[in-house]
Amino acid sequence: MKKSLLIGMSVLLFIFGCASEKTDDAAATVERIPEVEALLAQMTLEEKVGQMAQITLDVITKGENEMVSDEPLVLDMDLVRRAVVDYGVGSILNTANNRARTVEKWHTVISQIQDVAMNETRLGIPVLYGIDAIHGTTYTAGATFFPQQIGQGATFNRDLVRKAAEITAYETRASSIPWNFSPVLDMGRDPRFARLWETFGEDVYHTKVLGLEMIKGYEGDDISSPYRVASCPKHFLGYGTPLSGKDRTPALIPEIELRERHLPPFEAAVKAGVQTIMVNSGLINGVPVHASYELLTELLKEELGFTGLLLTDWADIENLHNRDRVAASQKEAVKLAINAGIDMSMIPYNLDFCDYLVELVKEGEVPMSRIDDAVRRILNTKFKLGLFDTPVTHYEDYPLFGSEEFESVALETAQESITLLKNENNILPLSKNSRILVTGPNSNSMRALNGGWTYSWQGEKVDEFAQDYSTILDAIRGKVGAGNVMFREGVRYDNDAAYWVDEAFDIPGAVRAAANVDYIVIVLGENSYTEKPGDLHDLTLSQNQIDLAKALARTGKPMILVLNQGRPRIIREIEPLMSAVVNAYLPGNFGGLAIADVIFGDYNPNGKLPFTYPMYVNTLVTYDHKPSENQARMEGVYDYESDFAIQYPFGFGLSYTTFEYSHLKVSSDQLTANESIEISVNVKNTGDRQGKEVVKLFTSLHYASITPDVQRLRRFDKITLEPGEEKMVTFTLTPQDISFINARNDRVNEAGYFDVMISDLVETISFIE
Ligand code: BGC
Repeated sequence: MKKSLLIGMSVLLFIFGCASEKTDDAAATVERIPEVEALLAQMTLEEKVGQMAQITLDVITKGENEMVSDEPLVLDMDLVRRAVVDYGVGSILNTANNRARTVEKWHTVISQIQDVAMNETRLGIPVLYGIDAIHGTTYTAGATFFPQQIGQGATFNRDLVRKAAEITAYETRASSIPWNFSPVLDMGRDPRFARLWETFGEDVYHTKVLGLEMIKGYEGDDISSPYRVASCPKHFLGYGTPLSGKDRTPALIPEIELRERHLPPFEAAVKAGVQTIMVNSGLINGVPVHASYELLTELLKEELGFTGLLLTDWADIENLHNRDRVAASQKEAVKLAINAGIDMSMIPYNLDFCDYLVELVKEGEVPMSRIDDAVRRILNTKFKLGLFDTPVTHYEDYPLFGSEEFESVALETAQESITLLKNENNILPLSKNSRILVTGPNSNSMRALNGGWTYSWQGEKVDEFAQDYSTILDAIRGKVGAGNVMFREGVRYDNDAAYWVDEAFDIPGAVRAAANVDYIVIVLGENSYTEKPGDLHDLTLSQNQIDLAKALARTGKPMILVLNQGRPRIIREIEPLMSAVVNAYLPGNFGGLAIADVIFGDYNPNGKLPFTYPMYVNTLVTYDHKPSENQARMEGVYDYESDFAIQYPFGFGLSYTTFEYSHLKVSSDQLTANESIEISVNVKNTGDRQGKEVVKLFTSLHYASITPDVQRLRRFDKITLEPGEEKMVTFTLTPQDISFINARNDRVNEAGYFDVMISDLVETISFIE
């Protein structure tokens, strides 16, 4: 109704203020939607600034203070009116008390908020509600949970990543929420980082491709669809590789590296028309990203042409004063961030932001044109989402929420993520007539299977919400019968801690229990965590878990190690004791079933490592390293056969069948500037069961003005082959694919030779300018 009311209104009455030339550049390209322009023309400064404010839900609920809410959750309508009517707050995020809610509860809460926003404010602008639904709809009970992004990366399966995002979009809208702070397009290039598992892994191209699929799944072609949400790729730019490996600590990233390895996924997302982006909470080269005009306005908005809404991360304007000390006061911090290009502040508690910003505009410290640009971007997003017409969706219109149909996609994704890293003498799959000891702190925990951002921020409430799903122990009992399974945890987590502290818990009992079994399935790793609580001092697997593995190894029983962890904890000491190693990452609610399917051969594993699994804490290297990183030993640092460098390489993963690659062919041995080249290879299933294989094409420049990376992934495809079946896979490469950033920070191609590598086949091609 609001929309039709607005259509007839006159537009563009607004006169631009004193914007700097550069800000105008960034603003110029933003779409002019007549209905939005008409609204903008009527808005007061205070109303505009209100739109730029985002608060967290606890601020407007009944409860002791703005950080706590009563249970059951009830909105405090006086506080709602103060925020939404008096301050005109444009957006709200999160859930109260950091716990999942039912779809019914979400409907009630969001209807009440929208009712005030639409009917009690002068212009009736709906609130934009946002949430972190990063591997399923985090804060909704009964939602479908997929593997975390790192596991989705291990599938190398574009379709599954898109489908998982489509389902998440559906279930998020079923929760009356239209905006999702996902995907993470940061690079998972530092195994120490507490959020590695929120990334797709270490490779730039793979992250770009899967990121685009996820965005497509969330946004579709039209985000006004009741089954789609606006996505919010994060955290722009260079989050994930701080020097210390610890969250929100300084990163030193030269421009050449920022452009070569961090920018491409965001660049592709902007090109695909993504609606919103969230900023990196950290600092690069001494500059907090939230204060960086160069990164936010010049690079993101002007150079890449991002015309959507740019959101801060949590409290990051305050952090410019409180934490990073680049602003001498809170007001100065607001000025810095808004002038740098921030459109909306995830405040999240204190509405002083609005008062400061109004003052700053009146004092001429923030140009009115900057405010108009920000509000235009915000209102455009609300308009495109259809919120003026449908401010609240209704769960009854979402019959597939939490359905078996959706859950089967979650199971399939979990199965495809499981990565078999070792299988000595083909010990796997195990016979279902086996007697098994199941042990380790992760063996009977839904919390550990899911990781953070599951029903709560740190994932500590998972066991309360996910009782109906199978842990690894449950699933193994399902395969061999409960009577054939012994269970002794051996080591357990302190579940009151929001992170991974563990304690020895009857290791001798676990050893005794091994006496009467055929195999030991030992499930090790980490408990759930994210952000600062996940920071650690030592990447090595905890001593208690190492002790458990060593004690059990002395029994001589064959051991199957299942890794259930967010980052690759060092397992060098115990890996040789294992007959098989299965990496499950954080596979979600269907992880237990998927792992048991792999162990007992009901599923043929096909996941591939999306990062390099390190062997030593001081040798953290990625597959796309420089040649000099190979010189520590003559055989090469990255040589995984040589016993001294890395545990498992990027892209590695075994199958129960075997594949043979042959006939690598190139359509020409020359590539010129405006041409492309076709590369094909034959892949044959030479084993006796059906299998899926990820065919990966790498390139390697022989010489270049910037030392070339030893190899770079340029294409991949996942195929299914029946026993004996052979398929030809064809890829097209263009000069853009082998280009790189040079010393002037320009993307270039240089004349010279490069190798194309698929499996162990190589062809050399020359590039001619
Ligand atoms: C995280 C973001 C998240 C935001 C909102 C921050 O602490 O860094 O990734 O989207 O909180 O929950």
